[in-house]
Amino acid sequence: VTRTAGVLDGRIAAFLARETAAFEQAHPRSRAALQGGASGWLGGVPMHWMKDWPSPFPLVAAEASGSHLIDLDGHRLDDFCLGDTGSMFGHSPPPVAKAIRRQARHGLTYMLPTAAALEAGRLLRRTFGEFRWQVALSASDANRFALRVARAVTGRRKVLVFNGCYHGTVDDTMVMLEGGRTRPRPGLVGQVADLASKAVAVEFNDIGAVEAALATGEIAAILTEPVMTNSCMVLPEAGFHDALRTLSRRYGAVLILDETHTLSSGLGGYGRVHSLSPDILVVGKCVAGGMPAAVWGLTPDLAARFAAYDAARPEGHSGMGTTLAANPMQFACLCATLSEVMTPEAYARMEKGSDRLARGLSAVISRVEAPWHVVRVGARVEFICAPGPLRNGSEAARAHHPRLEAAVHLGLLNRGSLIAPFHNMMLVSPVTRNRQIDRLITAFDAILTELFA
Ligand code: PMP
Repeated sequence: VTRTAGVLDGRIAAFLARETAAFEQAHPRSRAALQGGASGWLGGVPMHWMKDWPSPFPLVAAEASGSHLIDLDGHRLDDFCLGDTGSMFGHSPPPVAKAIRRQARHGLTYMLPTAAALEAGRLLRRTFGEFRWQVALSASDANRFALRVARAVTGRRKVLVFNGCYHGTVDDTMVMLEGGRTRPRPGLVGQVADLASKAVAVEFNDIGAVEAALATGEIAAILTEPVMTNSCMVLPEAGFHDALRTLSRRYGAVLILDETHTLSSGLGGYGRVHSLSPDILVVGKCVAGGMPAAVWGLTPDLAARFAAYDAARPEGHSGMGTTLAANPMQFACLCATLSEVMTPEAYARMEKGSDRLARGLSAVISRVEAPWHVVRVGARVEFICAPGPLRNGSEAARAHHPRLEAAVHLGLLNRGSLIAPFHNMMLVSPVTRNRQIDRLITAFDAILTELFA
């Protein structure tokens, strides 16, 4: 008999088979719609990540509002995935929906600043601190542009990232640490560049390795999340961020903080809550309440260095910016989100709800004596199918058990709770109700009771 994270493999297989059949039976309309209309899409879905859900075919969504989502078969699901963070403040927050309605009649994209743009710039400074901002359409783009600036001002080639990181579809970050060496990740489609010549991967929380990489003099930037949220959830050890700040200054590298997921931490993100001082701050996904937008900001010092570089650079494409970026709909949504949605009261509700969820899940894990644990970063809660705490990406990779996790996800979905497919992440929005949280805990209890019986 073999076990995965304490669960008999045979039991996982039986559970998955039964839950898969239950899903199929409960979703005839989703299935029929996909059979009727999926052939126009590459691989049957409009964005290939949609095939990564644990169900035998994706749910087809009918609508969503606040903290729930209704699928084509009429199931009302408590949504703890929330578009994998894009809708962290709930689906269609009323101030954002109102701003969209208002802007909708006045033009959708003009490639000009608006009065709302100027207001958004003020609100960004109030929320996140003294940075000089640019708007992009996605956090992937924002990170790409931030890296360009770092390379431009330092004249250096490499970015230092942490093993197991994810910063969007930024090719230069798609490296891993293997046998002590930086290598390209094997899954990257159509990649022909030698990524190891442009990036260095070291383990999170390994400040000695960070310093050794910086000492080569090749590092233009350290690009990091405050907490590694894409490799389970790996928390920074005491002093780690301070050391990154000190060392990046000492060796002349730009420190880029990607807060795309850690806006869950509190108002202004993890960096603001914990007084970090990056040179560039990147925020994506939910920053405009679910409307595609990301922002990246430079400290005034770095902005001045970049201005000097910019003034002297040859004519030609900068490689930054995209045509539809910084459009009036983004400004309307940024203003509404920053002023009326991302409030201290909203964060207080998220904090309270996520604490309730984390405690509930931890109690279940203790009761069934699973060798698992729960991590919480503000509104973001994750169960991890291994003992903790995890210290880095390699430990996180070993803690990841795709089949077992798929079984739990599908079991939760069949019991009315939708959680994020790529990790075991559950987000608590300001409008998530206690009864939704309790329903998720009850379902988790039923599933673990069966798996660990
Ligand atoms: N940064 C982080 C930390 C992320 O997790 C992600 C996406 N999961 C991104 C950037 C990229 O965001 P997007 O896919 O919206 O470009």
